[in-house]
Amino acid sequence: MTMNNKSAVTLLEENMPQQRTQTIGGPAPSYGREAGTGFPARRLRRLRQNDRFRRLVREHSLSIDDLILPLFVVPGHGIKHEINAIPGNYHLSIDKLIEEAKEIRDLGIPGILLFGVPDPKEKDLLATGAYAPNGIVQEAVRALKKNVPELLVVTDVCLCEYTTHSHCGILQDGYLLNDASKDVLARTALSHVQAGSDMVAPAAMLDGQIRALRQTLDDDGFVNTPIMAYSAKYASKLYDPFFKEGTQSTLSHGDKKTHQMDFSNSNEAMREIAMDIEEGADIVMVKPALYYLDIVYRAKTEFQMPLATYNVSGEYAMIDAAARIGRLDKKLIMMEALISMKRAGADIIITYFAKEVANELK
Ligand SMILES: [Zn+2]
Repeated sequence: MTMNNKSAVTLLEENMPQQRTQTIGGPAPSYGREAGTGFPARRLRRLRQNDRFRRLVREHSLSIDDLILPLFVVPGHGIKHEINAIPGNYHLSIDKLIEEAKEIRDLGIPGILLFGVPDPKEKDLLATGAYAPNGIVQEAVRALKKNVPELLVVTDVCLCEYTTHSHCGILQDGYLLNDASKDVLARTALSHVQAGSDMVAPAAMLDGQIRALRQTLDDDGFVNTPIMAYSAKYASKLYDPFFKEGTQSTLSHGDKKTHQMDFSNSNEAMREIAMDIEEGADIVMVKPALYYLDIVYRAKTEFQMPLATYNVSGEYAMIDAAARIGRLDKKLIMMEALISMKRAGADIIITYFAKEVANELK
């Protein structure tokens, strides 16, 4: 065969395998072909040929308005220690937290999600530190609302930072008690809101926790304080950097599989979300995000509620670590990851990348 006499296109066509005319499981979708508008009349690359066209037809975008940044507050003064496992994120004493909050406000990020890292001496079996009026979160919220009132302060409501064993509630014979623990969660949420928290985010995955919080807040007159429910929170190993170094609350024994969801399930996630909506959740959440985008998509499609997803510490750490050894471009992969969450249906993305994203989008 002489290459010279034949064009590259002819050679390609001769060597092309026969086109498949049927797809498994039924006819392929037509995508307009029956109307005579297929190739060559239709060429999808026309609208990809430059950035102006691509911008015009872009279906999803990420905005600073979508972001919430998790922050970790510690006792003390003048403390700003980088968290090794979540580089670029810090343990902050309240004075440094205020500085950070001002920077976040100036970047245009709407809100933060606050986690308390109390002095280990304040932990006990009943998590009493979680609802102490002068606890680390309560003090931090008061300072934030006084100094940076424009920033939404969302507080994570769980007990794992406040129990000596680091489980999310009260244990009996090693089992996490549901009803007794949910009442402590409700009391904790109320203490956050009394300190000035704009929204509470119950994270323990206990049955009935949303109803307990809603009733407690309403009884105290806080009928306008919304609840962002960690509705479909999976028992994931992607939280390890958060617990090992972020909140320093690695479990003393056991796991969280009796309350957090089995990652093999998706119908169950829809039942969790339905129950939280019925109990009064204003925003529902899927956590983690990246390996759970099918859940995000289903949640948005089935419920059409305001939907958050949590781009967790392990997701952050994977991208950061790959970038450090030169395997991936951190900024580009960060944007690709977060857009995938928007495409799946998330309205709100809780992410350790929030400041970096805001700087990119400015
Ligand atoms: Zn917890």
